[in-house]
Amino acid sequence: MLQTETREETELGKSLFFQRCLWCGTPAYRRSYCRACGAVAFGRERSAGAGVVVRRNGQVQQNTWFVAMDEGFNLLCQVTGTAPVVVAVGARVTVVRAVAPHGQGLPVVELIHPETPLRQWW
Ligand SMILES: [Zn+2]
Repeated sequence: MLQTETREETELGKSLFFQRCLWCGTPAYRRSYCRACGAVAFGRERSAGAGVVVRRNGQVQQNTWFVAMDEGFNLLCQVTGTAPVVVAVGARVTVVRAVAPHGQGLPVVELIHPETPLRQWW
């Protein structure tokens, strides 16, 4: 099942798309079958692009994290605009650059609430 996604890639921008199982409604991201019921039929939906950091992936310097999106699927993201040490589990992030559903590379997210200064006491 070859799909032509060239046009979509240029239109994607910040829009992050995910899959939703047509049988049980379980959301998924870049899966070939549903993790809940095993179906291979997915619809495609647009994510609001907001989620929460759940855990780090790989080296600190890479600043790649698994993010649980509000729609209920997880994906690996590159965090931008902040130092790796600032990112913490539970931080709210938003997608600033998405990738094509079957494209290469990671979606890029940034923290919604920048870190609060640590030296406020003086
Ligand atoms: Zn399913």
